[in-house]
Amino acid sequence: MRRTLALFLAAGLSCTCAAPAARAAPCLIVTLTGSQGGPGLFQGLAGPGTLVRYGDDGGGCAAVRLQFDAGRGTNMRLSQLGVDAGALHAIFFTHMHSDHTEGFIDLMQSRWHTRPIGPKLDVVCSADAVSPLGHTLSCRKLAAHVGDTLIQSGEIAQRISEDRTRPAGGPAELANVVTFEPRDAPQVVWTSGDVQVRAVRSTHMPGHASFRVDTPAGSVVIGGDAGSDAVAPPRASSTSEQVETLAHGADVIVHSVIHPVMAPGNGSGIPAPVYYRQSTAGDLGAMARRAGASHLVLTHLIPPIGADRLGRFRVPAVLTEADYRKPVEDSGFKGHIVVGTDLASVRLPAK
Ligand SMILES: [Zn+2]
Repeated sequence: MRRTLALFLAAGLSCTCAAPAARAAPCLIVTLTGSQGGPGLFQGLAGPGTLVRYGDDGGGCAAVRLQFDAGRGTNMRLSQLGVDAGALHAIFFTHMHSDHTEGFIDLMQSRWHTRPIGPKLDVVCSADAVSPLGHTLSCRKLAAHVGDTLIQSGEIAQRISEDRTRPAGGPAELANVVTFEPRDAPQVVWTSGDVQVRAVRSTHMPGHASFRVDTPAGSVVIGGDAGSDAVAPPRASSTSEQVETLAHGADVIVHSVIHPVMAPGNGSGIPAPVYYRQSTAGDLGAMARRAGASHLVLTHLIPPIGADRLGRFRVPAVLTEADYRKPVEDSGFKGHIVVGTDLASVRLPAK
């Protein structure tokens, strides 16, 4: 069943993609495809990403399949969920840091192999963002060059010589890039049937955006690595006011978190700006309480539970699950708390 996607964007772009709408008993499943934060590795955790599936109960809540960020190992986690890379309808990027994007290369190469003549993947992200320091963050270029290493190695040409149904331009040809200018007020960036995705500008690095998916079964906010616009203390909260506005009345908030054990002065070695551009669990709990959310899913845990190092940084005190959960409880948030692990899920309505 094919439906037309209306993309309400300044660019006026549109596309046609396969995304059947749900019928009876709508349901929503939010699953972490990776819970590791930052470029480091720890015990096989995948890099950050969230799969949002929506549909009807009879169809496994899977008529619409949206991926938010694609860190290292995303494709492996999707395969554990029975979701083929070629079966995603859209991917959304919060920002252009490698821990959130490097799995995109694998996803697009897989799609090129398995569904070379299938529908293009909507790649929804910020328009090019110029840093005050002079460099430019470009999701458009990331997508345009996603297959370049394999074009340069000769593999793309070799495989096309065997199967000419494959797009000659390689994996990049399977991307339909849709960009938007992030704003403080939520704007619609993607729709399909009764599913709507909105975005806001948020602070972490130039071009960072946070998203909200609304469906008849419920709503989920994907905060990404958002932090307060006030990039250092003193400040009321480490969280983003725009994300809080976006999250008002949402059911689920999925958000990156950093623990104060890594704060400047504690000996981790993390530069202060890198620490302060993330949100803490206590502040996220308070934000979720004010927003009225019923589920808070912490992900992109810096540091991971049990780690004594994080890449080149030291973890001054090895953390437990309770070290992330307790600050949320202490914030007064009364909802369901998930301290994220790979493949942790929230289903609406609960079964
Ligand atoms: Zn990150």
